[in-house]
Amino acid sequence: MMVSVRKVTGLVAAVALAAVVVAGCDGDNNPGDGHTHSWGNWSVTTPATCDAPGLEIRYCALDNSHTETKTIAQLPGSSCAAVSTFTDSRDGQTYRAVTIGTQTWMAENLNYDAGDGSVCYDSLASNCDTYGRLYNWATVMGFESKCNSSTCANQVQNPHQGKCPAGWHVPSDAEWTTLTGFVGGLTAGTKLKSTSGWNNRDDGGSGNGTDEFGFSALPGGAGTGGLVIGDFGFAGNLGYWLSATEDDTSSAWNRNMSYNNNIVPMFRHGKILLQSVRCVRDSAAPQ
Ligand SMILES: [Zn+2]
Repeated sequence: MMVSVRKVTGLVAAVALAAVVVAGCDGDNNPGDGHTHSWGNWSVTTPATCDAPGLEIRYCALDNSHTETKTIAQLPGSSCAAVSTFTDSRDGQTYRAVTIGTQTWMAENLNYDAGDGSVCYDSLASNCDTYGRLYNWATVMGFESKCNSSTCANQVQNPHQGKCPAGWHVPSDAEWTTLTGFVGGLTAGTKLKSTSGWNNRDDGGSGNGTDEFGFSALPGGAGTGGLVIGDFGFAGNLGYWLSATEDDTSSAWNRNMSYNNNIVPMFRHGKILLQSVRCVRDSAAPQ
């Protein structure tokens, strides 16, 4: 019996191959070669990554020109969460950031004091520490307040920095869609919500998420806005995140997450509603 291990690495592999042969032939019949393939162990030639599948190969112990290959599945998003930190040079505030698919998002809400139209929930600084600030649309976009009641779509850049730190921008509605699609569509809320901080569901179950991508969404609630800052509500139950995408003169698109379900629906809310903001890092090719 001839056992060639020319292309198989190392003594361990050779021993493993010999063991397979002694144990008897397995694998596919190949009448043309007059033998039953005796496959060695699979060995990885190209590891799978977050961006592409990998490849592995095995050799026939009886003739190592006989090979089989198979693909290794691309790594799941949960393996690709890459958490880092950065500092906003304007105020020295440090933020966590996480790469999810092709995007890098802030992993906590923006907490930059942009003056009128950027407030802490219930006007308590401790809530800014927990949830970041709440912004109306014109304020976070860096526009005049009249843009909350008139169209300013032609001033929206792609990407649009607004009040995000240098090198970051206010996400477009399309960028939100990319995120929620990547993490699982109808269960995106569960995967994006933090593992603590959410109130229980109406049925008594936990309203927290699995946070499997490191996004750590928190229920910062919202506030009524305009010239006078009024009522706040829903902290602990709901989170609202603005997008840079205007809907019409008085509304813009956003995303919501709830203590009571798994989804991340999009809504058109009044631009004056005070909501949370997550910035996205600029890339060479903005989406
Ligand atoms: Zn063979």
